[in-house]
Amino acid sequence: MEVEALKKKAAEIRRQAIKMVYQAQTGHIGGTLSSIDYLTVLYYEKMHFDAKNPQWPLRDRFILSKGHCVEGYFSILADCGFFPKEELDTFCQFNTRLIGHPDRCVPGVEMNTGSLGHGLSGACGTALACKLDDTNCRIYTLLGDGELAEGSVWEALMFAGNYHLDNLYAAIDRNHLQISGKTEEIMTLEPLQQKCEAFGFATEVIDGNDISSILAALERLEHISGKPKMLLLDTVKGKGVSFMEHAVKWHHGSLTKEQYEQAMMNLAEKESVL
Ligand SMILES: [Mg+2]
Repeated sequence: MEVEALKKKAAEIRRQAIKMVYQAQTGHIGGTLSSIDYLTVLYYEKMHFDAKNPQWPLRDRFILSKGHCVEGYFSILADCGFFPKEELDTFCQFNTRLIGHPDRCVPGVEMNTGSLGHGLSGACGTALACKLDDTNCRIYTLLGDGELAEGSVWEALMFAGNYHLDNLYAAIDRNHLQISGKTEEIMTLEPLQQKCEAFGFATEVIDGNDISSILAALERLEHISGKPKMLLLDTVKGKGVSFMEHAVKWHHGSLTKEQYEQAMMNLAEKESVL
């Protein structure tokens, strides 16, 4: 997809995610909105997969380590054809398989996540297995910045560097907020790039809400061999909806009818200038 088409797709996915949260009256919308541009680039430009054969052995894999931010992820999987789009209307309803976190009963989901700190470990194991199988599959994973307080993340970083997992593309949704406030006030993460490099990663720090920057950074990393890759995505929590941007209260929440209409209007305004 061209850059402009990717931007329009990201806007469409944002609208779908807002609709799901409004209909369900629940959802982790802030971190969903910050991460949609990255997921859009992965699924519509970078990853090789077959939605009609989700277990195709040579597919690239994506693991949503920040599993609570699932609305954009489910929207993309449906749009790519892993399951019918109409099923998105069942999000968080009784008897649905689209619960509030990724579950492997949903076609396209590689790993159950939501309990934080496990996605990178799963991605590392998958990346090592793909290397042992001598395949060229790439393994992508997205972590939250609040998630980095989990010690298991740092064990996985150590593992990735030790085994030179250059088929591993980890990314951190660096929106500077977590459930209870600013990351730097709760558990200091900086200097994050230097820490990742010390563990043996090739790193890029970019505007994670800019499609062109994401594409360029991934292309630079693809030329590096012998090292696992880390993208530090500088993002805005709640990106695209004015009253949600930078607001910690929108980590999780439900929308009133007025808020829903305002959010959709906001997104439509931004899409109209694309
Ligand atoms: Mg965060």
